[in-house]
Amino acid sequence: MPLETAILAELEALAEAGLLRAPRTISSAQGPELVIDGRSVLCFCSNNYLGLADHPDLRAAATAALASRGVGASASRLVSGSIDAHLDAERAFASFVQLPAAALFSTGYAANLGAIQALFSKQDVVFSDRLCHASLIDGCRLSGADVHIFRHTDAQHLAALLAEHRGRYRRALIVTDALFSMDGDSAPLPALRELADTHDAALLVDEAHSLGVLGPHGRGLCAKHDVVPDLLVGTLGKAFGCAGAFVAGSSAAIAYLQNRARSYVFSTAPAPAIVAAAIRATGLVLEADDRRAKLLEHAHTIRDGLRAEGFQVREDDSPIIPIILGDAARTMEASAFLLERGVFVQGIRPPSVPDHTSRLRLVPIATHSDAHISHALRALSELPWR
Ligand SMILES: *Cc1c(COP(=O)(O)O)cnc(C)c1O
Repeated sequence: MPLETAILAELEALAEAGLLRAPRTISSAQGPELVIDGRSVLCFCSNNYLGLADHPDLRAAATAALASRGVGASASRLVSGSIDAHLDAERAFASFVQLPAAALFSTGYAANLGAIQALFSKQDVVFSDRLCHASLIDGCRLSGADVHIFRHTDAQHLAALLAEHRGRYRRALIVTDALFSMDGDSAPLPALRELADTHDAALLVDEAHSLGVLGPHGRGLCAKHDVVPDLLVGTLGKAFGCAGAFVAGSSAAIAYLQNRARSYVFSTAPAPAIVAAAIRATGLVLEADDRRAKLLEHAHTIRDGLRAEGFQVREDDSPIIPIILGDAARTMEASAFLLERGVFVQGIRPPSVPDHTSRLRLVPIATHSDAHISHALRALSELPWR
């Protein structure tokens, strides 16, 4: 069969399964309100938790760097050098997470791929939470290490797997998201740290959704639990409102990544303007206790409102509120239903979540007004499905 014919058949199959994706077109800045198809709607599906993506200070920092450093970084830093902002950013992020050093990557996806691939290989073993982010899974695959999957947030299962398998390998790694992006629950970090120590394993914690949002001054869940991971991944495109990511850890580990992480070595460095904005974001995030409080207050109000309307939602301290509808097509119908009522909530389908757990993933933004929250709850209460 010619490739084109095969691709068309695959697309058809995706469409029939309700899994074909056609993202909306936004013609405004990312904020609590967006313009979609010329119409203003409320955004309840971003990771712009603190509402910093359109913050005037970040625009100003980016604009100043554009004027002085231009647009592109021109090559990998190993080829054309680090721009001073890259080094300033790495110092700022290391200090933010209170670890000795950090390396800047273009995306969180690239950071996870590069960090795991560089440090682990065929002689090694990785223990991974069943619901780890795709970029961690892909990093494990790329490394060539054997992978054992432990049941979601189940430290006892991890302990059993470590006892059974660790001995046969050179290095071992435990990987987990800190806050799981699709469910809003979090990893048992102190137990994971203890198991890593007992079994001579390293611990990599991906704080993509927790950094800026949870923990003292938004320093994340490791900071909240006084857990020092061997590697901490933070992303700058979510609560920080920018783009890019960093891996933090010991000075040796970071120097090694900057020599051997392929997604760092063989990729053009992040653009100066976005790096400058991210440095400014670090300062804003540290001072954003009021935004964090408002975000969690909104999440609390939404959970209460949903429960009163008969939805099954779990109580927890995260801004991520999954409403699991199960069926992919119904989930997309629900998303369209809400958008008609001016509320943009994306439906999340496989492969982003396991089969039969399609869901609306509702995320408020700190800069939503109370009236925005009431409007969203009213629209949600009209949904014909629970
Ligand atoms: C979003 C996300 C990433 C990827 O980060 P990007 O900067 O968007 O590429 C990595 N890990 C987790 C847990 C994420 O949620």
